[in-house]
Amino acid sequence: MKYSAATHVGLMRSTNEDGHCVFDLPSWPAMLLAVADGMGGCEAGEVASALALQSVREFLERQQPPADPGGWGEVLRLAIRFTNRRVYGEASTAPGYRGMGTTLTVALCGRDRAYTGHVGDSRAYLIRRDSIAQLTEDHSLVAQLVRSGRLTEDEARYHPQRNVLTYALGTEAETRIDIRAHSLLPGDILLLCTDGLTSLVTDPEILGVVSSEGDLDRAAWRLVDLALERGGMDNITVLLAQAPGMDGGVRP
Ligand code: CA
Repeated sequence: MKYSAATHVGLMRSTNEDGHCVFDLPSWPAMLLAVADGMGGCEAGEVASALALQSVREFLERQQPPADPGGWGEVLRLAIRFTNRRVYGEASTAPGYRGMGTTLTVALCGRDRAYTGHVGDSRAYLIRRDSIAQLTEDHSLVAQLVRSGRLTEDEARYHPQRNVLTYALGTEAETRIDIRAHSLLPGDILLLCTDGLTSLVTDPEILGVVSSEGDLDRAAWRLVDLALERGGMDNITVLLAQAPGMDGGVRP
């Protein structure tokens, strides 16, 4: 898989609490992609996101992949549960880290399938030709209100409580973890990002940038630039990975 990542502190904050990783798991026929958006004062947010990424990676490195790829999702769930306990343990014992937490959105990508594992309001998308589909459901108060029909997408974008999460990693001993399986076709693009992008750039705009840029690096930075042009209120992270195309081309 080709991949590219872009991250920026934004225009309003002094530290970047977002983290991301792309990692080829040695014993798996798969690649690990992940983004995490940390929260908690005095650098605790950075610690939470970095610890989550490190911990999910270490867990998967120690596992042999199940012979049946249908079992990958369950291993990913165990990896995220382990990670939640580790961040929660650190948050409850280290005085400076009390209350820290993070989002975590992971994609375990094989040749023709991907599993997403998700907690919080970062997102994974699948871009296939001229379509974009959100693969994850935001664990946020406003997303819940949108799903129940009490808010529109547009109202949610400007809602004063738009940053309130219903689930996060590391804030409770157990958390909700969404695992989903997706099939991958040649040329498909997976996009993982933090809410610093999606609070300012809409899904059709994301699709427009990715399908008009012929190059993953340029697309990732163009998306970051778009969020910056609109105020860059938060840290912004974008990760793109593309399944090999039939002709090796970059475009979806
Ligand atoms: Ca954020």
